[in-house]
Amino acid sequence: IRPAATLVHAFRAAVARAPEHPALAYFDGRLTYRETDALSDSVAGHLAARGVGRGDRVALMLQNTPHFVIALLGAWKAGATVVPLNPMYKSAEAAHVLADSGASALICSDRAWEAYLRDTAAGTPVHVVLTACEKDLQTRNDPRVLGFERLPVPADTDDLVAVARAELPAPHYGRDLTTTDVALISYTSGTSGTPKGAMNTHRGIMYNAERQRTGHPVAEGAAYFALAPLFHITGMVCELAACVANAGTLVLAYRFEAGVVLDAFAEHRPAYTVGPSTAFMALAAHPDATPGHFASFRVISSGGAPVPPALVERFRTRFGPYLRNGYGLTECTAPCASVPPDREAPVDPASGTLSVGVPGPETVVRILDERGEEVPFGEQGEIAVRGPQVVPGYWGLPDATAETFPDGELRTGDIGFMDRDGWLYVVDRKKDMINASGFKVWPREVEDVLHTHPAVREAAVIGVPDAYRGETVKAYVSLRPGSTVAPAELSSYCEQRLAAYKYPREVEVLPELPKTTSGKILRRELRYPT
Ligand code: ATP
Repeated sequence: IRPAATLVHAFRAAVARAPEHPALAYFDGRLTYRETDALSDSVAGHLAARGVGRGDRVALMLQNTPHFVIALLGAWKAGATVVPLNPMYKSAEAAHVLADSGASALICSDRAWEAYLRDTAAGTPVHVVLTACEKDLQTRNDPRVLGFERLPVPADTDDLVAVARAELPAPHYGRDLTTTDVALISYTSGTSGTPKGAMNTHRGIMYNAERQRTGHPVAEGAAYFALAPLFHITGMVCELAACVANAGTLVLAYRFEAGVVLDAFAEHRPAYTVGPSTAFMALAAHPDATPGHFASFRVISSGGAPVPPALVERFRTRFGPYLRNGYGLTECTAPCASVPPDREAPVDPASGTLSVGVPGPETVVRILDERGEEVPFGEQGEIAVRGPQVVPGYWGLPDATAETFPDGELRTGDIGFMDRDGWLYVVDRKKDMINASGFKVWPREVEDVLHTHPAVREAAVIGVPDAYRGETVKAYVSLRPGSTVAPAELSSYCEQRLAAYKYPREVEVLPELPKTTSGKILRRELRYPT
């Protein structure tokens, strides 16, 4: 694998190859590679003029809009490290990330600025805001995308659209950035604790982007649909970086809404998308979805969260395409295992788990027991990963770095096993194991069974305290539109298919399960509701 040094280099190569090809598509708007390059040069020039330089942290808190990409490239061209923030963050969550990363600039929407960030960002000297309200951003049909009328700029901030159009030269392009520089400090989504900043290097991003490009090939210049949010590593690497490496058009749609996404599929005819399995569950459950919406796709891949085998079958039966599994973590800059293009992932006959694929080239996956020794094929243990995409550590946390990356090898905290043919299976997160009367229950296995029930849309399983068993299994489900089912029926459905200690004694139906913005179901939120 021979990736470009950084995404900025890959972008410049795409500008040289196809300057007039659309780099970004947003509803009816398009921006070519040449235009996007010039706009991000101006952002870089502006940041440099405000004192932002190499290695400084630029926090970026925007939804999936062209502005996200322009600001990101601009910050990198200025030599900075970008800190993507979840755009759903409110004051306290943003304050933690801004302070922890020591950000010297913040780029966000004027709405977030007014509502949550004005006081929070007190220690951040440079503020650039996008002066268009969220509703405008979703509905504006301007062919130039950046043609929003000027709105009043909040005090102490600069206007991102005006900055991008100022025609300033990028100060440092190509001189300062190197492949081992920290490109991103990506705060983990916090499904299992306080967010920690993983330091993704340019090399890690471009290695995985190139792997996506060659491992999941689509025609050069094809349309890539950004189903995952760009602030999350899956969106950043498997969508944006993979698209740029292939001089493609990145189709953006603000944030995930099944109906809007289906319309965008019909309009842009994308060839490629990667998203969390919950997005595919929502698309599969949408009453308007037809096979025609998926006819243009060559690659549809579900990454970053468990994929129930029943979803893959439901998707194929209803729409045609094969939903490809992929396994990754923020700490390995998105994927470290995926399903090769000419293969389908096997299902383990004993547990019913769908394989996440095989490790990529130059990537070594080992399965370790509690002492850190490798276990034989087929046996379960903790998944450990070594490769060019594994981050050098967590920002400012030497102890957590030493614990999670002994000798540079990532201990994922996931339990899995590998079969003799090299297929990797993720059983579950180590910390989510349920201990029912001394028996191990992995929530995933129970969730996979619930997903085979026709009324179930989403399922999450947790352990709850039980006087007799210590812990017992409880399931939460949301239902497909128009479906009804009694909780007791779901419990006995599982009882017929699972060992007595595994089936959920209690099932609760919720309208929607709690999720992160990147689409992962938050079992923690069900265990300790806030
Ligand atoms: P935090 O680290 O704060 O708990 P998080 O784990 O959700 O947040 P991510 O890096 O986004 O942060 O998620 C990585 C985790 O997602 C993996 O450790 C694994 O548990 C799960 N995961 C990713 N892809 C798959 C997959 N294909 N199948 C099963 N689980 C997956």
